[in-house]
Amino acid sequence: MFTRMLKLRLLNVVAPVYFFTATAVTFVFHFCFFVPTIFPVPDAPLWASTTLHTALFLFSMFNALGNYIMTIRYPAASAGDSTVPVCSPHCSDKVDAHYLLNDRHFCKLCRKVILKRDHHCFFTGNCIGQKNMRYFIMFCIHTSCTCMYSLVLGVAFLTMEYSISFEDPLTFLTLLPLSTGYFFMGTISGLQLFLVLMLYVWLGIGLVCAGFCCQQVLLVARGQTWCQMQQGRLQEIQSPWQNNLKDVFGTRWILGLILPVQTVETCSEEKQD
Ligand SMILES: [Zn+2]
Repeated sequence: MFTRMLKLRLLNVVAPVYFFTATAVTFVFHFCFFVPTIFPVPDAPLWASTTLHTALFLFSMFNALGNYIMTIRYPAASAGDSTVPVCSPHCSDKVDAHYLLNDRHFCKLCRKVILKRDHHCFFTGNCIGQKNMRYFIMFCIHTSCTCMYSLVLGVAFLTMEYSISFEDPLTFLTLLPLSTGYFFMGTISGLQLFLVLMLYVWLGIGLVCAGFCCQQVLLVARGQTWCQMQQGRLQEIQSPWQNNLKDVFGTRWILGLILPVQTVETCSEEKQD
C-alpha cells in the first residue's frame, strides 16, 4: 500500500512536468520551425497566411493552458469539510480515495474532501469533481485540438524539409523505427528524430484527450461520475440530459468554448456547497 501511494505521489509530480515540457516543445517547434518553413510567403492567401495559423495555434494553446489553470484554481474540494472525515461503511477503501456519504470522497493524494468526485487527474495534480469538471473537459478539447493541429503541421514540415512522403498509410507505422535506425547510423540528425518522436506524442495525447472528453461529456449528460460508474451506481434522481449538461457547463457554455472563464452563476455554485 505504501509503495503504491508513493508511486501515485511521484506520478502526481512527473505528469505536470511532462505536460509543461511537451507544451514548451510544441511552442518552440511551432514558432521556430513550422511557421518559417510552411508559411514563408508574406502575401499568401488567407488560408495559408502566417497570421491565421499563428492565431489558431495561440487560440488553442491559450484555452488549453487557461482551462488547465482554472481546473487547479477552482478545485472540487468541499469548503465545509476541513478535517479528515470518518469513512462511510460502504467504502471499498480504494488506494487513492475513500468513499464518504452523499457523493463525497476523501482523496488521499489531494488530502481533501471532494464534492461529486469523478477521478484524480495526475496532469493537473488535482481531483476532478463538481466545480472543475467543465474546465477539465474544455482543457481536454483544446489540448486535443492543439496536438492534432501540431501533428498536421509536423507532417507538413517533414514533407517540405526532409522530403518524407506520407502518401503511403504505412509510412506513419514505420517512421519511428526507421528514423531511430537512421539516427544511430548517422544518416539523420537528432532534431529530425526528436520531431518524429513528437509526432507520436501529439497523436497519442490528441487521441487520449479526445476519447477522455467524449467519455466525460457522456457521463455528465447521464448525470453520473466516473466513480459512480465504477461502483455500478446510477443517480437516484434521473434528470433530463439537458439539465445535467447545463448544471456543469452553465447557461453561457458557448463563451466557455472560446474563453477559459466562469460560465456557471457563482451564487448557484455556493448553494450546491
Ligand atoms: Zn485528488
